[in-house]
Amino acid sequence: FLAYKSAKVFVAGHRGLVGSAIVRKLTQLGFTNLILRSHAELDLTRQSDVEAFFASEKPEFVIVAAAKVGGIHANNTYPADFIAINLQIQTNVIDSAYRHGAKKLLFLGSSCIYPKFAPQPIPEDALLTGPLEPTNEWYAIAKIAGIKMCQAYRIQYKWDAISGMPTNLYGPNDNFHPENSHVLPALMRRFHEAKVKCAKEVVVWGTGSPLREFLHVDDLADAVVFMMEKYSGLEHLNVGSGKEVTIKELAELMKEVVGFEGDLVWDSTKPDGTPRKLMDSSKLASLGWTPKVSLKDGLADTYKWYLENVKQ
Ligand code: GDP
Repeated sequence: FLAYKSAKVFVAGHRGLVGSAIVRKLTQLGFTNLILRSHAELDLTRQSDVEAFFASEKPEFVIVAAAKVGGIHANNTYPADFIAINLQIQTNVIDSAYRHGAKKLLFLGSSCIYPKFAPQPIPEDALLTGPLEPTNEWYAIAKIAGIKMCQAYRIQYKWDAISGMPTNLYGPNDNFHPENSHVLPALMRRFHEAKVKCAKEVVVWGTGSPLREFLHVDDLADAVVFMMEKYSGLEHLNVGSGKEVTIKELAELMKEVVGFEGDLVWDSTKPDGTPRKLMDSSKLASLGWTPKVSLKDGLADTYKWYLENVKQ
């Protein structure tokens, strides 16, 4: 992959958290022929539009970072959107990429593909060994179908399609929606707004006891390039930081990074979701990849971006 810096690389979903980080990384590395389409230019849920796009552009490498994503509340509220849109996007992109001669495709999912009570840290082979966390099973089923589709195309067509399953990601261009985002951007915004308004307290959902692992999206982008270069296997690979924190610890750290001086109030009427979600990323580590950004540095970097972009 790294030997083809002038090849056409299609990054689907380049405006999102993940896609924008991959574009930054590829640009830094000197890739000169990135193929990018905004949602308005190409609706990836429209099969015939996707087909026509691949027929005319014929990208050599494809990275699927386009998805309908959201936190626990959004997943619970819009189950039809989460399953249908994700199945449509990934099926269209994977199939068209194969049919129009792409050399290699990388499909991205998430750690919620694993059973709710999977062994911790979660190894890749825990996939499909038990029931999913009900709050995000719609999204998870779509992502599992994406992994299986890459495997099926590898088996039937000997095509180089691989999958990477990142843990909870954060960073520039995240979704900071107050209700529909993930915990990290939601708390960043809430603490920031509380600081600006000199509020006395900030409400945090659930009990604070669930454990989560977070990875800065620049680390994921680095891992994506690493996998494009080094990995061509049937099995999907976990991509995590290997470090977990409780939601309470995250909230305390966020409070410090943002500089909010009031109190935390826990709203236990909101769901905790799965109790623990740490991935076993030792397979990727054994191939030679390690994450570089600490949670504290990553939060500071993301808050800096947030302050520069909050008005937009
Ligand atoms: P999950 O990792 O799929 O469960 O998704 P989330 O990132 O939405 O939630 C992670 C954990 O953070 C859950 O235990 C939530 O209850 C908790 N949490 C605390 N405050 C918030 C918040 O303001 N927004 C969200 N989305 N989650 C929160």
